[in-house]
Amino acid sequence: MSRNYYIAGNWKMHMTRQQAAELAQALVNELRDVSKHRYLIAPSFTLLETVSAVIEGTNIRLGAQNCSPEEQGAHTGEVSVLQLKDLGVQTIILGHSERRHSYKEDDELINKKVKLALKHGFEVILCIGELLEEREAGKVEEVCETQIVKGLEGVKASDLSSIVIAYEPVWAIGTGKTATPEDAEAVHAFVRKVIERLYGEDIASKIIIQYGGSVKPDNVKELMAMENIGGALVGGASLKIDSFLPIARFS
Ligand code: PEP
Repeated sequence: MSRNYYIAGNWKMHMTRQQAAELAQALVNELRDVSKHRYLIAPSFTLLETVSAVIEGTNIRLGAQNCSPEEQGAHTGEVSVLQLKDLGVQTIILGHSERRHSYKEDDELINKKVKLALKHGFEVILCIGELLEEREAGKVEEVCETQIVKGLEGVKASDLSSIVIAYEPVWAIGTGKTATPEDAEAVHAFVRKVIERLYGEDIASKIIIQYGGSVKPDNVKELMAMENIGGALVGGASLKIDSFLPIARFS
């Protein structure tokens, strides 16, 4: 049976407008006829308008990498959901490990952003995942469960169709180390169980759980073959057409 996957590229703090437009255009051209999977690219805020113009009306969704927890107002340096909507953003990545660990975002703040994004009709990719020391201390499930429960606190079942979970073990992000497909699958299955406990079997069976952490052309197939892995959130390898395309077009 062929499955559909949700393949997302997180461009992080890379590229100028010209580079972004070129990469987005190349992806539009190459993915135009691939109806099999669902795609998203998430450029920096400053590139959103440029990329939006290139991918509008195509099979590639526009994502942002963060948003302010406040709707608008006196919040210097922040970007509002209203501004993101105005640029054509459809999805917001929240709780990325770089936000959690480098910028000290806690579950409460992430939850506030999740609820605001949902209120304004965005899809949310909620990132979760453990640090290496947490894995070594046997705390993977505890950490992931807390991040899910707190991240989704107060989120109604009717909003779960707009939630995607990305399991990204922090030790695998940008390091070249990938979780084995079996280790990743075990956590994905656990994540689905947590969602089932919170929202019931039907919602749990439908939620997309992406894997993220050094996904590359040569490991995408074995990761996506796992039963509970429904897509990939790709960082480094999404920055070049030569590495993102084989991931996006894998079969
Ligand atoms: C990410 O930033 O979400 C990520 C998974 O990065 P990388 O693919 O580079 O590990």
